[in-house]
Amino acid sequence: MSRILHRSLRKEPMLAVSGKGLLVRGTEGPPVIDASGGAAVACIGHGDERVVRAITEQARQIAYAHTVFFTCEAAEELADLLVGDSPGGLTHAYFVSSGSEAMEAALKLARQYFLEIGQPRRSRFIARRQSYHGNTLGALGLGGNMARREPYEPILANCFSHVSPCFAYRFQGEGESDADYVARLAAELEAEFQRLGPDTIAAFVAEPIVGATAGCVTALPGYFPAMREVCDRHGALLILDEVMCGMGRSGTLHAWEQEGVTPDIQTIAKGLGGGYQPIGAILAQGKIVRALSEGSGAFKHGHTYQAHPVACAAALAVQRIIREDDLLSNVRAMGARLEAGLQERFGNHAHVGDIRGRGLFWALEFVEDRASRRSFDPARKVNEAVKDAAMAAGVMIYPMGGTIDGRTGDHVIIAPPYTARPEEIDRIVELLGQAVDGVLSRPGG
Ligand code: PLP
Repeated sequence: MSRILHRSLRKEPMLAVSGKGLLVRGTEGPPVIDASGGAAVACIGHGDERVVRAITEQARQIAYAHTVFFTCEAAEELADLLVGDSPGGLTHAYFVSSGSEAMEAALKLARQYFLEIGQPRRSRFIARRQSYHGNTLGALGLGGNMARREPYEPILANCFSHVSPCFAYRFQGEGESDADYVARLAAELEAEFQRLGPDTIAAFVAEPIVGATAGCVTALPGYFPAMREVCDRHGALLILDEVMCGMGRSGTLHAWEQEGVTPDIQTIAKGLGGGYQPIGAILAQGKIVRALSEGSGAFKHGHTYQAHPVACAAALAVQRIIREDDLLSNVRAMGARLEAGLQERFGNHAHVGDIRGRGLFWALEFVEDRASRRSFDPARKVNEAVKDAAMAAGVMIYPMGGTIDGRTGDHVIIAPPYTARPEEIDRIVELLGQAVDGVLSRPGG
């Protein structure tokens, strides 16, 4: 019996044995195609020797050096690479070990920024319903996924509130134009600023493409500029969470590049280290770092493993590979192929209500009834059943759903590594098709 407190205490997971490219092998059965990069993590595939070498060399040189005393070359070069590349005035990086830690750091940096510039009342954060920003208490409190929050509600901070997301398939009114929908959402954000007091708001926080909680939901054109305008008018910051959709997954390095806005603070993780090491980061605008530098002279936050040399060396190698192998072009090309494949295979499927996403970040939303968009009874756990059937068919996809305000139900995410080849994309669609048909053609399907 395992002594690990696994995610499920009813069914122990299989032991993972090895991974190469898109293939992951466990102790049982043939290898499976990793079509979700775990949870949109393994962006350059598994077993890339260049990353293994970088990790080994760094560990041999020095594995750990506390940031109170030292910086390290890998962290410095990684920061140069990340913000040197940034088209939007982001000037500094701060490295942590996960997406949740990155969100915590973003919240604290925003708060400290306002203290430094003499606006101590700004202590509130507005996020969106159907959002997930991490599982630590700050990030969980920020998130708007009510099912995830519910067990912990009494121990969450009360500086967070939530407005509606831009989620056309579920919440755009019938006959409502895109422009009217965006205007309605901007008015809702404005009303929330007014309700709380505009000078108490530190930041509005959103994912440019909503990942796990709602399934690759892209915003309508004009949405982010409209949100930014509300923030700017009231002097609040815009924090964009690119933990899942960032670092190339959308076809550009940052998903916000396609939205016509630049964040004041951005969080990244998953694809930053591609799963080779646990690493996340925030990227911040110069004005924020300047305020700290001219004020107290320090960011009042820290972790033992921040800017860990081996994690930074791994991420540096991953980010160099993305550039050297021109993987963003492949994301765009294979993304178009995946979209076309999904449309062809599932476009007329009686139980696939929506096919949505961008780059190599796509979701299928399953519905009981296409016309009314009625979701399946969450008790049926359709997304889990599709995941299990897909795994049995030889493909790993990421299941979520059944928990979102009772309005949306089941979806699965397809987020293969950026290295995917055309035949692998086609095979993913084929195997997923078999899995979906197998689950949804059963009685009651
Ligand atoms: N933000 C988003 C958008 C995420 O999808 C996640 C994780 O899935 C997080 C934050 C938290 O990241 P982590 O699980 O690395 O703590």
